[in-house]
Amino acid sequence: MVVLGIESSCDETAAAIVTDDRRILADTIFAQIAEHTPFGGVVPEIAARAHLDHLDDTIAAAMRQAGMKFADLDAVAVTGGPGLIGGVIVGVMMAKAIALAHKKPFIAVNHLEGHALTARLTDDVAFPYLLLLVSGGHCQLLVVEGVGRYQRLGATIDDAAGEAFDKAAKLMGLGFPGGPAVAKAAAGATAPFRNLPRPMKGRPDCNFSFSGLKTALRQRVDALKAEHAFDDATRANLAAGFQAAVVDCLIDRTRHALELAQAAHPTLSALVVAGGVAANQHLREALHKLAAKHGIPIVAPPPRLCTDNAAMIAWAGIERLHAGERSGFDYAPRPRWPLDSAAPALAGAGV
Ligand code: ATP
Ligand code: MG
Ligand code: FE
Repeated sequence: MVVLGIESSCDETAAAIVTDDRRILADTIFAQIAEHTPFGGVVPEIAARAHLDHLDDTIAAAMRQAGMKFADLDAVAVTGGPGLIGGVIVGVMMAKAIALAHKKPFIAVNHLEGHALTARLTDDVAFPYLLLLVSGGHCQLLVVEGVGRYQRLGATIDDAAGEAFDKAAKLMGLGFPGGPAVAKAAAGATAPFRNLPRPMKGRPDCNFSFSGLKTALRQRVDALKAEHAFDDATRANLAAGFQAAVVDCLIDRTRHALELAQAAHPTLSALVVAGGVAANQHLREALHKLAAKHGIPIVAPPPRLCTDNAAMIAWAGIERLHAGERSGFDYAPRPRWPLDSAAPALAGAGV
């Protein structure tokens, strides 16, 4: 089975061609960095227009890369939500048009399910596994029991982990996109700040919180600016301190969830990390240590497949198509679509 995947839910315009024996035949991404940099963040209306401008070429490039024609495809998969609705509409309309014109099945998949199942594209991971989903809009711990079967153990009560990185980058004047900018600045630290808070650490639940950490960072930045001590070296040390605090929080909450999940699911196969923040090298190293301590494999897809891409959408489509599903051409894009209700939502896709 060969599937074209299309992703346009945020600021990456992406197309990929993936086979059900896990080969990525093409993977093209147009990252709208120049479009959003002047604003220091993603502007939804600009993103939607940029998807409209670039999606044609991005898909054509993927088809060329794979050496394929639309007629060679078995299906078209697209992000049907959640995300910035203008962009999702552009992708869904394009996918429907290609599928209709070439008489192929069309399937709308949950963007988060794309992140959640990426590990099964890159590695041979069996259900159930514990997933730390850390992206620009989400921060959750879930037991993935099967396709469409997600048991949420905890989630952020305020900001997502990626959002925290993005806001911190803006606060420190590090630019857009924030996560990679903070990581890059942190790499030059000589004496990382040590006394930033670790919200929720040690709590008996599996929830996260990052807004207090962001406030602490803002106060620190303001104080340093008032003392005229906010130079590049200080900025690097603050970035490193912030990154360490976020990673500490993520590891503490994941440790707790891992203990619960291992007790509840004796066949738990792996600890999996997904979403843009999973590209963070410090987090990856810390998760490796955590998993080793708990005697469980860690699966962290290559960074390019952690941030938004269309290969994960094609793959989630393949998993759904294998389960006998497809969407109707009256499918309506969804701005919100929680992962834990992915199954009922998709069973009713086309409604
Ligand atoms: P969602 O998947 O929740 O809908 P999204 O699609 O916008 O949100 P992703 O593309 O999965 O999010 O991830 C983007 C986020 O990952 C951004 O917040 C970005 O700052 C963060 N990120 C990317 N690379 C890194 C990195 N190396 N370190 C930390 N954060 C990173
Ligand atoms: Mg992005
Ligand atoms: Fe994403």
